Amino acid sequence: MADAIAVLNAGSSSLKFSLFGIVGGALELTARGQAEGLYTSPRFVARDRDGKILDAKDWGDGVKLGHEGALYYLFSHADLGDQRLIGVGHRVVHGGLMFDRSVRIDASVLAALEKYVPLAPLHQPHNLASIRALLISAPQLPQVACFDTAFHRDQPEVEQAFALPRAITEKGVRRYGFHGLSYEYITQVLSVCDRRAAQGKTVIMHLGNGASMCAVANGRSVASTMGFTAVDGLPMGTRCGALDSGVLLYLMDELGMDARAIEDTLYRQSGLLGVSGISSDMRVLEASTEPGAKAAIDLFIHRIGRELGGLAAALGGLDAMVFTAGIGENSAMLRERVCRAAGWLGVELDLEANHAGGPRISTAESRVAVWVIPTNEELMIAQHTRAVLAGDQVTMAMAADVNPGLQ
Ligand code: ADP
Repeated sequence: MADAIAVLNAGSSSLKFSLFGIVGGALELTARGQAEGLYTSPRFVARDRDGKILDAKDWGDGVKLGHEGALYYLFSHADLGDQRLIGVGHRVVHGGLMFDRSVRIDASVLAALEKYVPLAPLHQPHNLASIRALLISAPQLPQVACFDTAFHRDQPEVEQAFALPRAITEKGVRRYGFHGLSYEYITQVLSVCDRRAAQGKTVIMHLGNGASMCAVANGRSVASTMGFTAVDGLPMGTRCGALDSGVLLYLMDELGMDARAIEDTLYRQSGLLGVSGISSDMRVLEASTEPGAKAAIDLFIHRIGRELGGLAAALGGLDAMVFTAGIGENSAMLRERVCRAAGWLGVELDLEANHAGGPRISTAESRVAVWVIPTNEELMIAQHTRAVLAGDQVTMAMAADVNPGLQ
């Protein structure tokens, strides 16, 4: 029976999971799926790596399964094949100042992570709920926390600081950066497919429903567009991105909005959805002829171009750019427009390669190499989990696990 590592990503009403078997020393995806509607109408589905359904269950309307019930079903009942679970890796959005790497979880680590709930109230409580449930129901099962913030912990102090009074900064109000597991994975893949870029100055663009960009120098994060929260930086599917903080005062004082109403506006009603008035989904906007759809796409691309200039300045140059996540991996139109806007930095796009989806989409003469690399945060979490359980660090040598198709 092969050893396996489960990777969990808990949202407010969902639990996504992946199962990686350890085959000949390498991690291989064997199953993935999710439980959704955990507090309203729970349903579960698990598929194998080819998409074939392995297990599915629907609890019906009005059932409150919760994260605990979903975990119990996943680990005690779901038919996921014959494997021995040796550990669970959790995606945890916030590791604060304390955690600059993945860590084995015990009661004291959980208590430390609970202190960061106020820094990420929309995500952290759900991440911790699954950890807590497993600590109680399966205390012998090793659990590892992998953080979206850890990859950015070494950023220079000037990058992390807000120009706020010291007493506020000391409460932890600083720039943390997110999507770190995705950036770390891409950095690993680059070390396999483009050594010069991996050792040089790269901007990685993680463009999905959540969107951010990260400046990486010699494999280390030096700046990112997300800051104290995951609402900063680029406009996203439904999040506004960077906003003059005076707007918040206006919303409170002139429009009488309270904190919850503002949160709803900034996180759920803005971005591509808010500007277009149509959808948060880039596919819908690309297919639309409505002026709102064009306005939303134009704004998104304009802001990517501006951030690119800022990140190239933070790096002091640019050797490579990488597109990743749902939009970055799939929208040839967006990549073409972003690359055109980045011509001044020495970017020359190979149109044919771009339409083919890459992986390399810049011309041979381009001063800046441009890549399309599918992200894989789950594999990154599985790698960290295996390394922590073995008492190791994740190293570039583990790039052997990453997408060999790109070599
Ligand atoms: P999440 O942040 O939820 O993980 P994803 O990385 O899955 O998001 O990205 C979702 C986004 O990717 C959506 O805006 C979706 O429209 C976009 N997307 C997916 N496929 C395509 C495509 N073929 N063309 C353009 N956009 C796409």
